[in-house]
Amino acid sequence: MTDKFQNNKDDGGGQDARLFVVSAPSGAGKTTLCDAARRHLPDLVYSVSSTTRAPRDGEQEGRDYFFVTEAQFREGIDTGQWAEWARVHDNYYGTSARFIEDHLYAGRDVLMDIDVQGAAQILRRYPDAVTIFIMAPSMAILRQRITARGLDSGSVIDKRMKNAEAEIACRGIYRHVVVNDELDAAIARFVSILTGS
Ligand code: ADP
Ligand code: 5GP
Repeated sequence: MTDKFQNNKDDGGGQDARLFVVSAPSGAGKTTLCDAARRHLPDLVYSVSSTTRAPRDGEQEGRDYFFVTEAQFREGIDTGQWAEWARVHDNYYGTSARFIEDHLYAGRDVLMDIDVQGAAQILRRYPDAVTIFIMAPSMAILRQRITARGLDSGSVIDKRMKNAEAEIACRGIYRHVVVNDELDAAIARFVSILTGS
């Protein structure tokens, strides 16, 4: 397995494609920042993960996730389909190795939104991956954001807050840390990392 993704595009640019890995505790604003980045950088490919979690209201198959059964997910493990996979909040999540490698070898930058366990696996498999950890300015603000989003019940919020502490403790493995305080400033910082400027 190589960690370099040489650009196969015949555009003379010569720039290798980059793999970006973004993680954050639930509610820190990762979806908001990734959506903004995708609007700013329409050529950036978003890696669509597979999960055994049930779709939330408004989520679409193939756009947000590929929703699979536990048996299908396990088959993916047995056949080496996942570049990384993890059990997060009682569900399985995984990234197709073929999906990201096909895009990278075609010269397209890829953005992955995965948890800290997955990020550690990606760094072992692709040491050149650019890793970014997004944080809320405080735990109190994190709780407010999860609550205001209105997607999760009280017990799920408590569980996510507990997981957040463990996730934040792992931020040292990431190359960049973005504190999502004032939204426009956080978007500008995030986009500047993705464009290398
Ligand atoms: P995540 O994907 O990390 O779980 P979201 O992007 O869904 O988080 O953000 C959680 C909530 O916080 C959403 O309601 C979102 O609109 C809000 N939010 C995100 N960034 C900010 C910010 N900088 N200031 C205030 N609210 C924010
Ligand atoms: P959610 O269920 O809120 O969409 O995501 C829960 C967590 O799973 C988030 O931390 C998200 O980054 C992570 N996640 C999503 N897709 C993947 C994946 O393919 N692999 C891993 N390891 N984590 C993922």
